[in-house]
Amino acid sequence: MRVDQVRPKFVEFIPDNLEEGVLYISERFRTCSHKCCCGCGEEVVTPLSPAEWRLTSEGELVSLWPSVGNWDYACRSHYFIERNKVRWARAMTTKQIDRVQRRDAADLAKMMSRRNAAKAGERAPSEALPTQRPVLIRPAVPAGARKPDSACERPGVLHWLKRLLFGD
Ligand SMILES: [Zn+2]
Repeated sequence: MRVDQVRPKFVEFIPDNLEEGVLYISERFRTCSHKCCCGCGEEVVTPLSPAEWRLTSEGELVSLWPSVGNWDYACRSHYFIERNKVRWARAMTTKQIDRVQRRDAADLAKMMSRRNAAKAGERAPSEALPTQRPVLIRPAVPAGARKPDSACERPGVLHWLKRLLFGD
C-alpha cells in the first residue's frame, strides 16, 4: 500500500524487517532505511553524508534531502520526504535518471577524495613522530655520562687546594 506519511524511528541498528511507513534513522551508522513508499516492499537505504542524503528534524518531523529516487527498483518511484510527509515527484525519464546517477557518483567521488585528503592530513603529525622520538630520548642520557665531567673537575679542585695549602 502506498504511504503518504512516514514516522521517524531513531534506532542504533536498522532492523532486518522494516515496518511500512517507518523511517528508521541510525545516527550511529549515519544511515536511514525505509520500505519504499510506493508499497512495493523494497528496502530503500539512504546513507547520510554530505554527498548523499541529509536528514533534518524539527522535533518529531523529519525531512530527507534530496529526493528518494528508486531507479534500481521496478517501481522507479520518486518522492521527497518533507516533515514526515511523502511528496510524490514525477517519475524521471531514463535519460534524467542517468544524469542524476552520474552527478551523484561524481559527488561521492569528490567527497571520498576530500575525506582521504583529510585523513592523510591527520596522519601527518603521527608520521612525524618517529623523527621526533630520538630528540625526546636524548635528554634521558644516563647519569653516568656526566662522570667524566666531574672527574675532570676533581683534579682541578685538588690542584686549587694544593695551591692554597702549599703554594705553587
Ligand atoms: Zn517502490
